[in-house]
Amino acid sequence: MPRFKQHQSIAITALIVTVLSLTGLLIAQLSAEDSTHWGAIRWTLALLAVASNIVAGLAVWRLPRLIRTAVGKIIKALEDPEADVAAEPADRDLPALSQLTDAAARFADAQRTKPVSTEQLQQVLSNMQEAIFVTDTAGIIQHVNGATEALVGLPAQEIVLQPIDAWLSTADNKTIAATTIARPTEAQLRTGDHGCLFVSYLVSKLNDGSDDEKLIFAAQNIDARKKAEQRIRYLARTDSLTKIANRMQFQHYLQQCLARAKRAHHHVALMYLDIDRFKDINDTFGHSAGDTALEIFSQRLVEMLPESATPGRLAGDEFGVLVVGMQPVEDLTERLGALADDMLAAVGQPFNVHNEEVFMTASLGVAIYPQDGDNVIDLIRNADAALYQAKKAGGNCYEFYSPDMNVEAVERIMIKSKLRRAFENDELRLHYQPKYGIRSGRIEGAEALIRWDQPDHGLLFPSDFIPLAEETNLIVQVGDWVLDKVCADYRRWQQTVPSPCRVSLNLSLRQLQQRRFLEKVRETFESYDISPTCLELEITETTLMEDTNQTIRILDALYGMGLHLAIDDFGTGYSSLSALQQFPINTLKIDQSFVKDVAIDRDNASIVRTIIQMGHSLGLEVVAEGVEFEEQLAFLKAENCDYAQGHLFGDPMTGEEFCQVLAADGEGTGKYRTLFG
Ligand code: C2E
Ligand code: MG
Ligand code: MG
Repeated sequence: MPRFKQHQSIAITALIVTVLSLTGLLIAQLSAEDSTHWGAIRWTLALLAVASNIVAGLAVWRLPRLIRTAVGKIIKALEDPEADVAAEPADRDLPALSQLTDAAARFADAQRTKPVSTEQLQQVLSNMQEAIFVTDTAGIIQHVNGATEALVGLPAQEIVLQPIDAWLSTADNKTIAATTIARPTEAQLRTGDHGCLFVSYLVSKLNDGSDDEKLIFAAQNIDARKKAEQRIRYLARTDSLTKIANRMQFQHYLQQCLARAKRAHHHVALMYLDIDRFKDINDTFGHSAGDTALEIFSQRLVEMLPESATPGRLAGDEFGVLVVGMQPVEDLTERLGALADDMLAAVGQPFNVHNEEVFMTASLGVAIYPQDGDNVIDLIRNADAALYQAKKAGGNCYEFYSPDMNVEAVERIMIKSKLRRAFENDELRLHYQPKYGIRSGRIEGAEALIRWDQPDHGLLFPSDFIPLAEETNLIVQVGDWVLDKVCADYRRWQQTVPSPCRVSLNLSLRQLQQRRFLEKVRETFESYDISPTCLELEITETTLMEDTNQTIRILDALYGMGLHLAIDDFGTGYSSLSALQQFPINTLKIDQSFVKDVAIDRDNASIVRTIIQMGHSLGLEVVAEGVEFEEQLAFLKAENCDYAQGHLFGDPMTGEEFCQVLAADGEGTGKYRTLFG
């Protein structure tokens, strides 16, 4: 039993004996006053109590020393666990109780800084979730844990004794520096199956005071998180349909290329592409065919582009291609022109949709850094201006940017605001182009064509302002003005010519989409007291296919009013006659592009012949537009076409002139009668 406990027991036993003796004494005192028997007992008990008290006192007097001895031994054990604590210390060596706390703190400190044995270390490492590589200061792996084996997929012996670089490399493929890294750093971990995993790692130094310093690389698997991040980034930067860069990414890339080109004094070309009449593909074959067309388009671009060119989808059917590294500068435009030609040829190959061959062409605008713009915004704007010119030139071609194109762009904006004032200033004019019956040789109709008599520019043709008006609601105002003017002119002609022929006017989609369009037309006819049968509305194939159900409803109502309906520019859209059969149409106008070469080009001749035959088989009258030569008229006559319209019979004319021509024609003195033989 330890000494301290022994003394404690002695003191307690002595105290118990004292208590018992005193109790006995008290009982003896109370029981018998004067018996010698009881007197002896009383003396014995009193002696016992005194003796026990002395024993307990002695035991308690020794207690503090005993406690200090025990504390001293505890402190000694804390300070030197190996020391022998059995020996009794001298009284002067005994510590105060308060010294115990200091000793405990010193012990805890010592525990913290105490070197760990290799065995202990291995035990700790093997329990860690991080993949651990222990290397020497040269980065040669000396030890790995189970987590490393599991992550790499190889046993430890195949990993150790190799440089850490063989397994870990930073994301930008730099080698891992064998120095401590306080903050988690991302890297790639090579795996046994030649794959790669993203990890985040820390390096710390293991220094036990000896020369044998070690580095500990602790790597955490962050592969799933990194891959999710990569996927999100990919989705944000890639066009989901074509899988090429989207607008945001393309512009970002353009910005980077420009910065690099600025430093290296290089040139960069931005090519802006737009599919010609893409809307027709969508309208005719449906949106999924439109999507297919976009996919095919971008795939063809990707396949044919050189490595120095990067494509991106900028919007709907607009694509951009960035060409870098174009040194030397000599022949730059020739080389870019050749590339543009190749691009247009590649994307222009026909493709099949629902077993039908679809032709797709594109227009292309080119702007070059630095001469055409030294920043992203200017380059894109100027490439777009060049593209606009290519479109204007008929499409399927490219244009290089030139500064006057921007002047034109500014002009386009100006035109819109000037057009608003053109109504107030009475600058709009309506010209009429007669339509001759090919069998009768007489004027059997006319087309109303708008012009804008600008005080400082002269006569502007519809192609210069109608597309701009169509971009805004101005076209509705233009259309209202045309209808009103045609009715007013017609009313005037009726006073000279008893029955002026049927006059056609061109309609834009937005006009048809107006809520009050039918009422407006009816009111106009009523106010001029003109029968709707005197007029014909020309609508292009594309307009008809735009919003088929709504259009059919409106056209049925117009047809019901007695108006004639004609399909304009037939052959230039993707519509088939069978699709057009659902509309209440009377007339088919063959586009002038087919009529142009009808006498010299066998293909065009056969197209025109087929359209005439198809139209007739559906009970439609057929008009040939753009007739300029007698040979064309002869061909049309031979093919039994119904009407001819074109410069062969003079330019479009004012209402007054037309009225005179009409009157002369009625009297049999028409200028062009002999042309019909
Ligand atoms: P469109 O309806 O196909 O009109 C025929 C166009 O061909 C007219 O051009 C006409 O001047 C031109 N043309 C006539 N004969 C010949 C010829 O022998 N050779 C050639 N090369 N061209 C000929 P314009 O007047 O410049 O009109 C162009 C287009 O503008 C029209 O094509 C029509 O789509 C549109 N347009 C004209 N007036 C109006 C209008 O009042 N409202 C709307 N919405 N569009 C209009
Ligand atoms: Mg027309
Ligand atoms: Mg036309």
